[in-house]
Amino acid sequence: MNRFAGALLLGCCVVLSGCKEVVSVAKVGVRAERAFQDDTPITPVSQPDRYAMFSDILKVHRARAERVARISRALRVANAPICSVTRPDIGLSTHQLSDYPEPIRPLAMHFMEIEEDGRFVHFVVPDSPADDADIRRGERILSGWPVSDAAPLTLETEQGPQAIAIDPDTACAIPAFVVQSDRLNASTDGREIDLSSALVDQAGDDSGLAFIIAHEMAHVIRPPAEGASRWDVELQADADALVLMRNAGFDIDGTVRVWAAGVELHRDSQALSLTHPPVDIRLQALRRALSETQRRSSLVAPGEVLRLD
Ligand SMILES: [Zn+2]
Repeated sequence: MNRFAGALLLGCCVVLSGCKEVVSVAKVGVRAERAFQDDTPITPVSQPDRYAMFSDILKVHRARAERVARISRALRVANAPICSVTRPDIGLSTHQLSDYPEPIRPLAMHFMEIEEDGRFVHFVVPDSPADDADIRRGERILSGWPVSDAAPLTLETEQGPQAIAIDPDTACAIPAFVVQSDRLNASTDGREIDLSSALVDQAGDDSGLAFIIAHEMAHVIRPPAEGASRWDVELQADADALVLMRNAGFDIDGTVRVWAAGVELHRDSQALSLTHPPVDIRLQALRRALSETQRRSSLVAPGEVLRLD
């Protein structure tokens, strides 16, 4: 079974209103918290079963968040020239104890290398400026976060506070987060992207996940044209996603091939979708968009960014 196509077909919707909190860890925490009926802190002694369960949740969540951050960053940096809102990006994710609900804070401290006070490095995206500067998980951030031109990032080191010289990349200001959920869903409120943990797990290889993220980014970069039908908006986002992926160096030809291979299996479920066109229409449009993106790509110098025309 082609899980990537299934995830993609079922996932993806756009929500254009609302303004959400930009803390991914808090999101997993809030979901996790629903499993609790009381405020008893989770420790190996007080609640061994829950301790084991939530320690796994935290570790798996971090692995997913790292993967999404790596792929999303590649798309955001490569497409910065065509995003209207950008921000400095060094490939660093941070967290603090208050990002986690009270009952799982003992776990967070134990497994996530954080302490009662302060902000700490959650993870570093490989080959990012933060990685090049040798910033490592668990280090305490004293000041300069979020990264800006105004002040350097200062970390606590054995030799005392140390200002880190980092040359940030410029990236589209469209962060992608993982929300703990069994539903296959991706959405954007026009500012950031939420991906359900189930969707990330079923997205297939990096190109498959990149396509889902790029599709949502496309909804943000190109707001729906007035009068456009819901189907038109979705087909446009599919086409734009291929351009964004091409700019970031992903294999768009392979992505469409994998997508096509999964179509048969999902024709029936997709037919029930209220928001998305039938798979055959979508695949046809995707193939056209692939040819067009490849044609446009052949007309520009390698590395030149294609715009969403
Ligand atoms: Zn969409």
